[in-house]
Amino acid sequence: MTDKVDEKKVRDFSARSQAEQRDFIENTWCDSCQKENLGLNSPCEYELSGIIYVEGKCKVCSNIVVTEFTDDEF
Ligand SMILES: [Zn+2]
Repeated sequence: MTDKVDEKKVRDFSARSQAEQRDFIENTWCDSCQKENLGLNSPCEYELSGIIYVEGKCKVCSNIVVTEFTDDEF
């Protein structure tokens, strides 16, 4: 019997292009501020259950903001 626990697999956000990093950092939604595109501090990227997320802190209130990576641009 195996207990399958989904673990966060940290990825290298800085390996992305400057343009991609900027997109992630600028296109955000803060639940706490109820505003979009406030920007992120200290972004980091990880994979969980096959989905890639970028997590950082809201530049305005420092709430944790998590953005799901989607392939919408393709
Ligand atoms: Zn905020």
